[in-house]
Amino acid sequence: MKKLVLIAALLFLACDSPTLQSPNIILFLVDDMGWQDTSVPFWTEKTEFNRRYHTPNMERLAAEGMKFTQAYAYSVCSPTRISLMTGISAARHRVTNWTLRKNQTVDRPDDIIQPPDWNVNGLSPTANIEKSIHATPLPAILREHGYFTIHVGKAHLAAMETPCADPLGCGFDVNIAGHAAGAPGSYHGERNFGNHPDGSWRDPWGVPGMAKYHGQEINLTEVLTREALTAIDTSRASGKPFFLYMSHYTVHTPIEADRRYFQKYLDAGLDTIEARYASMVEGMDKSLGDLMDYLDANDLADNTAILFMSDNGGLSVHGRGGEANTHNRPLSSGKGSAHEGGIREPMLVKWPGVVKAASVCDDYLIVDDFFPSILEMAGIEDPQIVQSVDGESFIPMLRQSGSTATDRALYWHMPNIWGPRGPGIGPSSTVRYQNWKLIYYHREQMFELFDIEADIGEQANLADINPEKQRELATMLSAYLRSVDAQMPIDKRTGQQVPWPDEVRNED
Ligand code: CA
Repeated sequence: MKKLVLIAALLFLACDSPTLQSPNIILFLVDDMGWQDTSVPFWTEKTEFNRRYHTPNMERLAAEGMKFTQAYAYSVCSPTRISLMTGISAARHRVTNWTLRKNQTVDRPDDIIQPPDWNVNGLSPTANIEKSIHATPLPAILREHGYFTIHVGKAHLAAMETPCADPLGCGFDVNIAGHAAGAPGSYHGERNFGNHPDGSWRDPWGVPGMAKYHGQEINLTEVLTREALTAIDTSRASGKPFFLYMSHYTVHTPIEADRRYFQKYLDAGLDTIEARYASMVEGMDKSLGDLMDYLDANDLADNTAILFMSDNGGLSVHGRGGEANTHNRPLSSGKGSAHEGGIREPMLVKWPGVVKAASVCDDYLIVDDFFPSILEMAGIEDPQIVQSVDGESFIPMLRQSGSTATDRALYWHMPNIWGPRGPGIGPSSTVRYQNWKLIYYHREQMFELFDIEADIGEQANLADINPEKQRELATMLSAYLRSVDAQMPIDKRTGQQVPWPDEVRNED
């Protein structure tokens, strides 16, 4: 009898004690969204772009959570997406350009640079896929620890005909509209989201799995939001916490009007392309608002963390209205560039009970850090994984109890030919350390050195003025690249590997 009372008491204690319930987690990733494509000011002052774009739900999220003003990603899709799913930095995982077809590179031909044999097949959860990074994906770990894992939207995790081409092969319980390709043929239901007129799949840009909306006048962003809410309903029936990877196709090309918002931006005086783009941004924001409304209405908001991020800078070198390379001002350049316009992202995190409302973090971090942070949010310690993780948890920043930025350097490495030419675009390796940033261009074997704090627009190259700082950072960058066995391209003029940054001799 005594024993039974003791067991009952223990059970009572176990139920009553403030056990930390694993929160639901929404990772809201926007494609190709620039740092200034929002009415939330991420700079020290409000810009013309903050006045142009209307993102009331991002404002709401910022008011309820933390804004990160120096959050970085890589400059194109796949390096970021692989880091997000694995915690591995790009130089180490070697998925340094965007992926699509098995064993095929998307590198453009170049007279001077021959890119290395990079991991064109992307992420693989198994060891037997050539030219891929073998790693344990984030959703697989979350599922292993009791989460219901939902993928919605753009996957772009691996090349066609490999396991992670379908998110179901990568640890997700549900896949809505995701596959190997990194863009939709169209956002419009009337155009079957880029599929053939009879609804069959158009290789490779047709959005899969959304046939029930074909022929309807509905935007893909709206479709994905509705499907995400239905998937959350399913997860609630399962009694498990959910991980929703809300990975929007928007605001990537094709730049097509979201008709709900298009006219308003024409009326505001934007040209047709920019009005379309702004309407896509607002359509994305409406999706965020719908998710937040759903959480409020279903009493889930207090136990759901929302992380908002973009995968690379806003497109600016081509395809946009107005003057090229100006769409992310005050930042220089855009997608594909090592300059801030290519890599600095709008990041917000709401986590009720942990993150102070309307707080701001000015410390820098990089997208690799989401992996350990999300695992820590979920209460998962020492998971069984095959990779070594480069990212560092930003939970101390969220708690305002510490920072990972202290004495930390961040690194980028893209030995590839993405395509267009523009400021900061071209094969390069980069280090950010404190207020300094050094970019090493593989083709020219030249440096740019910027004081980012003083010169956020990267207008003044200080490499010649401050050779000591240049050498210090070149040494740091070279040591890092060697330590991760980074792949350098071949210089066709010499037939040799492009020298490490610390091997380049200054002409002075
Ligand atoms: Ca992208």
